[in-house]
Amino acid sequence: MCADVPPLHDAEKPLQLRVVGCHGGETPRHRTCAFLLDERLAIDAGSLTSGLELDLQCKLEAVLVSHSHLDHIRDLATIADNRAQYGCKPLVVAATKPTIDVLKKHFFNGLLWPDFTQIPTKKQPTIVYKILQLEKRTEICGFGVRAIAVTHTIDTSAFIIDKNGASIAYSGDTGPTTRLWKVLNLEKDLRALLMEVSFPNEEQRLATVSGHHTPQTLLPELKKYKAPKDLPTLLYHIKPAFQSIVEKQCAKLKGVDLTVLQLADQILL
Ligand SMILES: [Zn+2]
Ligand SMILES: [Zn+2]
Repeated sequence: MCADVPPLHDAEKPLQLRVVGCHGGETPRHRTCAFLLDERLAIDAGSLTSGLELDLQCKLEAVLVSHSHLDHIRDLATIADNRAQYGCKPLVVAATKPTIDVLKKHFFNGLLWPDFTQIPTKKQPTIVYKILQLEKRTEICGFGVRAIAVTHTIDTSAFIIDKNGASIAYSGDTGPTTRLWKVLNLEKDLRALLMEVSFPNEEQRLATVSGHHTPQTLLPELKKYKAPKDLPTLLYHIKPAFQSIVEKQCAKLKGVDLTVLQLADQILL
């Protein structure tokens, strides 16, 4: 306890980013994507139950879903089930309409998994959907959220999330893209970019057909930002099979500020 440091008001508090899962696959040492902001807002749901204790699962208020690929949504199934047992407040599942449509039709459809928008009751459901319009700022549990379309094999969005005038961005699964960089270049106080990179340079063909980055496509992409050296870029979505080679290839990239995220990292932004 440090008596002479005054307590921070909410407006001055930095954003707290917690890495629950940051990989492009799963093993006992790798978890699929899920990140927490201030323990209230999750970005993607790949490991919200495999990587979080029950109290934190119940504390969550909303989940932003970048796209409907299973590695980003799978733990929506188990977190809904867990929260239903505790009678938690409804969990807001926010995404663009194409993603919500897939969740309704193919996931919480009463066949693959129960429809938790009706459980335990229609009036007091376990989850509620919130549709995000592309590029329109929406308030979600105290954060401003904008979804920006990126370039993957299905409808996918990046997110720009702001609080108290500062923002962070999350790329979502994407290969080379355009619009995201135009929007990021207009941000006044961008504190960090969580950026995907999945395959090593030797697997470029696979990365291209699956809508992902290798280190060699990542570098020109980051240089679309006005000051890439000044943008803390936090890498995630590396495939477990290629973890060390992708890290080595990224370490050689010049003129950028890269950190490879690790499980359980907690970063103040
Ligand atoms: Zn994907
Ligand atoms: Zn993915």
